[in-house]
Amino acid sequence: MNVDVVVVGGGAMGSAAAWQVARSGKSVVLLEQFEEGHKIGASHGATRNFNTAYAEADYLDLLAESRNLWDELAEETGTQLLDLVGLANHGNVAKLRTVREAHEERGIESHFLSAAEAAERWQGMNFRGDVLFVPGSGRVRAAEALRALRAAAEARGARFEYSTPVRGIRVLGPDSVLVETDRSRFTARRVVVTAGAWTNRVLDGLAALPPLVVTQEQPAHFTPLQDSLDWPSFNHNPDPDDPRDAYWYSPVYGMLTPGEGIKAGWHGVGPVMDPDARTFQPEPKQLDALVRYAREWLPGVDPASAVPISCTYTTTPNEDFVLDGFGPLVVGAGFSGHGFKFTPAIGRVLADIADGGLAPARFAAAR
Ligand SMILES: Cc1cc2nc3c(=O)[nH]c(=O)nc-3n(C[C@H](O)[C@H](O)[C@H](O)COP(=O)(O)OP(=O)(O)OC[C@H]3O[C@@H](n4cnc5c(N)ncnc54)[C@H](O)[C@@H]3O)c2cc1C
Repeated sequence: MNVDVVVVGGGAMGSAAAWQVARSGKSVVLLEQFEEGHKIGASHGATRNFNTAYAEADYLDLLAESRNLWDELAEETGTQLLDLVGLANHGNVAKLRTVREAHEERGIESHFLSAAEAAERWQGMNFRGDVLFVPGSGRVRAAEALRALRAAAEARGARFEYSTPVRGIRVLGPDSVLVETDRSRFTARRVVVTAGAWTNRVLDGLAALPPLVVTQEQPAHFTPLQDSLDWPSFNHNPDPDDPRDAYWYSPVYGMLTPGEGIKAGWHGVGPVMDPDARTFQPEPKQLDALVRYAREWLPGVDPASAVPISCTYTTTPNEDFVLDGFGPLVVGAGFSGHGFKFTPAIGRVLADIADGGLAPARFAAAR
């Protein structure tokens, strides 16, 4: 079968690329190895933080575009995809001051609250220092977003094939690639590879990427003690050199997942794992430390109620994404545990690269 574009991988990034390619009027087939809604990659679960507390211009540009595209996708599909409950950033206040400066330059609303003001406002949380609150942030409804991306792409003629692993990719020429599955062969002008933890396996040396480390991450949901408590999304950095934070594995992120509890997790420190040989079991020491974190910093939850989640990160050395082209191949990889909020704009960048465009230099593979 001949198509303009084949997308490999039906997670957030592949689904967004298929939507954007279909929007540009090209024919597109998305191939996903597992069934729709599987929990084996990086995009499953009901919620993700929509956090705008970045200081870097490239990320703030991508976020601003994403915000508009999330709204467009919600309108196109008649769904609500963002819950802008605000995001409380605390810990390492010096770092937050640089974020506030970047926000000031761009007119992004954010402001500092004292620890006492924040504790008064969010009685389920403890604070030690000033808190940078960003009202225009919050959560993405991740599971609904995946369904909406598929629906919007299919409404424009895209075809999604689940339980269809790609077994091989062969470059036939500057504008021609052969993609093989167990049942069929596709010839396409471009192939977009958004295969998450399996990226290197799928590419099999066809593109030179920065090192990608796959880890099994294990945030957990905790039961709130009262349903009436108000919860922002949150990011909490350890205070540098503060011995009280010595047991932390990394900064903590978190949010309310309606119906499941308060999610909290360490960032990017899970055990390195082969995506096809996962344990899906939480690493006990990290879980114990997370429970201790909940006991110390989330007085509004039951620390003994932790329900772990298992999920993969694919991380680059500096946590910058890879969005780049290699002849007829386009690669979106290395989202390093912070990609979901940018999903629709990343889809647009990948569709543009498939059309001969360039990604911002920060995301080039050769860095
Ligand atoms: C625990 C956790 C918490 C997170 N929290 C946040 C957050 O709060 N905010 C935020 O912005 N981001 C967050 N992220 C990051 C975000 O979820 C990811 O960046 C994003 O989901 C990556 O999407 P993806 O499409 O690249 O990967 P995936 O969803 O893993 O998609 C890749 C797909 O490719 C498929 N595939 C692989 N090989 C083949 C093959 N041979 N043939 C066909 N298909 C194949 C896989 O089955 C998979 O479905 C979090 C991630 C995790 C794990």
